[in-house]
Amino acid sequence: MYSVTHKRKIGIQVGCAAIDRKEIGVQCSHSTGSYGRRENETGHLTYDELLRNHLWTKDYAIEWLKEEKLLATNRICDICHSDMMLRDCSDRSDGYVWECRRQIGRKRHRTEKSIREGSWFEQSNLSIEEVVKFTYWWTQGLEQWQIKQQLGLGSHTAVDWDMFCRELCEVTLFENREKLGGPGKVVQIDESKIGKRKYHRGHVVEGQWVFGGIEEESRKCFIVCVDDRSEATLLKHIQDWIEPGTIIVSDCWKAYVNLDKYGYTHKTVNHSVEFVSSEGYDTNKQEGHWRQMKVNLPTHGRKKEHYSSYLAEFIWRYVNRGNDLFKIFLKDVARVYKLE
Ligand SMILES: [Zn+2]
Repeated sequence: MYSVTHKRKIGIQVGCAAIDRKEIGVQCSHSTGSYGRRENETGHLTYDELLRNHLWTKDYAIEWLKEEKLLATNRICDICHSDMMLRDCSDRSDGYVWECRRQIGRKRHRTEKSIREGSWFEQSNLSIEEVVKFTYWWTQGLEQWQIKQQLGLGSHTAVDWDMFCRELCEVTLFENREKLGGPGKVVQIDESKIGKRKYHRGHVVEGQWVFGGIEEESRKCFIVCVDDRSEATLLKHIQDWIEPGTIIVSDCWKAYVNLDKYGYTHKTVNHSVEFVSSEGYDTNKQEGHWRQMKVNLPTHGRKKEHYSSYLAEFIWRYVNRGNDLFKIFLKDVARVYKLE
């Protein structure tokens, strides 16, 4: 289950290998798509469909969320360890509660559990429908203030849920992490700086170095925040993320000079004289990735300790691009918040 401590353990590394979903998603939408359908040709769930098909009534919403494994379908009583009953409950905003009123010997006990316990919806003042709607707009790429406006939320609530969504991406990427490269595969690596740059007497006084790599033939990639660009620092991440035997392409930064000694085949592009090396290697894909990353990071209100979750959101959206991000997000939620 997701928790703050869980996240802490993850640290600041984000990356992902969940590229297969792209292929699966594309195949699914092709095989099930009907030619007659004019609206929503992509097979992506529209907001209208979400409201009409899933959130029509509270009962519909809860049944649907059970099917999606976002709410539990059964609960065990802590006292007698039998299955609890789902009961209508008008004094709870959810409208339902898990309950046990069995008798053991002469004594009858009564226990209750929220239908949200252990779920994505736990400990929120929002209604379950509001959380679903927030999640929907978030996956569609709306900015936090826009979602806040759409749903009439308080500022703190919107900030919190924006963060929960990013953290869900972070946990998902961490759980699916897989090394890049391998014999015969090419991985481009590079460093970059994100964050505000304040030039004061010629010095950059703010910002965060990030180090990243991307496979040439897939969307497998990683980005990590680093304190410096020393050989020791970067080598540690390279060994952490890239399989031995990989062809690594980089610029001529001095930290990379010994890569050949560590089981990699190292190729360089000298950016002061060329964009493609004489052997045909380049780092264009990684540089394009930096450009996209910078466009997608919010420009203000970003705290340094949140960089890793913003990077996780960026990578999550990148590896899942072209798919129905809402559906994928719900699957990721169900995987992270297991409700057995
Ligand atoms: Zn019981």
